[in-house]
Amino acid sequence: MKISEKIANYKAQGKTFYSFEFFPPKTDFGMDNLYSRIDRMASLQPAYIDITWGAGGSTSNKTLEMCKTIQKYFGLEVMMHLTCTNMQVSSIKKVLIEAEKNDLSNILALRGDPPTGQDNFVPAEGGFKHATELLRHVRDNFEFCLAAACYPEGHVESSDLITDMNYVKMKVENGADFLVTQLFYDNQDFFRLMERAETLGIDVPIIAGILPILNTNQIRRFTSLCGSKIPDELDIQLERYVDDDDAVRELGIEYATRQVQELWDQGIAGVHFYVLNRNYSVSKILDNLKLPGHIKIP
Ligand code: FAD
Repeated sequence: MKISEKIANYKAQGKTFYSFEFFPPKTDFGMDNLYSRIDRMASLQPAYIDITWGAGGSTSNKTLEMCKTIQKYFGLEVMMHLTCTNMQVSSIKKVLIEAEKNDLSNILALRGDPPTGQDNFVPAEGGFKHATELLRHVRDNFEFCLAAACYPEGHVESSDLITDMNYVKMKVENGADFLVTQLFYDNQDFFRLMERAETLGIDVPIIAGILPILNTNQIRRFTSLCGSKIPDELDIQLERYVDDDDAVRELGIEYATRQVQELWDQGIAGVHFYVLNRNYSVSKILDNLKLPGHIKIP
């Protein structure tokens, strides 16, 4: 089923929903473990599951395989990420045809980051320069439901928030049915993104990206790479527990619970959890929020 239709159903019923994002593990052992975890997490009733496209196109075969397996054996709706990094148009077409043949219905279309060791994104020969081009290609040639990325604090390469948001508008014009945000830790940034979207007439659903923090150094690294900020008060607490991962994980659960609760209180129906292939934190957060299930928005 197309995720856009599912989202429309939740909206019609005034209900919240959430999705879980996983990345393909490197080893077969890791893959088996992850499938067991996904099996357990299916009972949390996510609206859908995302599988990332490995940076620079690495693990791309695994992404497609995982999507097929999860949809077929776990009965979950799946969204496959696809990036343009190191991908010629012919390779992109091949992946999309394979996805279509296997009844996958949903693609998150991304440009991707520059490959490791490169500062700037350089398209593959004859390849797409931006997600906008990938979206246009998929919309013109396939029937997938399409999603695209947006950035509450602006994309790292962008000169300013309005320019960045105008490109998001172009993503929607080129076929994105809904948007998923980069991770953020200050809900005000998300609310401001929603205001910019409204001003520019972007009227597709925007799903809020939440990453429950697991480890101080890891989250500092992630946020510095993707340009999201850690609010000072949160950072002070992270520093306090820099050598205590259990304490940081509990702090992450508590923080994310409050973030999601506030989003839902403000009528934001959809939340996307960057699960990082772990189930403990997200299960706890949903438990704190008296879920699983899809509750009425207050
Ligand atoms: P674009 O939309 O192309 O934007 C890149 C930059 O170019 C921005 O500064 C934008 O303002 C500007 N821009 C956009 N369109 C145009 C245009 N037409 N002309 C000129 N400038 C333009 N990475 C992975 O490798 N694998 C994944 O699975 C993955 N999943 C992600 C999921 C989500 C929800 C998010 C938010 C990010 C994900 N990423 C993933 C990271 C993503 O690849 C990077 O953020 C990347 O740097 C930008 O991708 P994009 O699709 O937003 O690019």
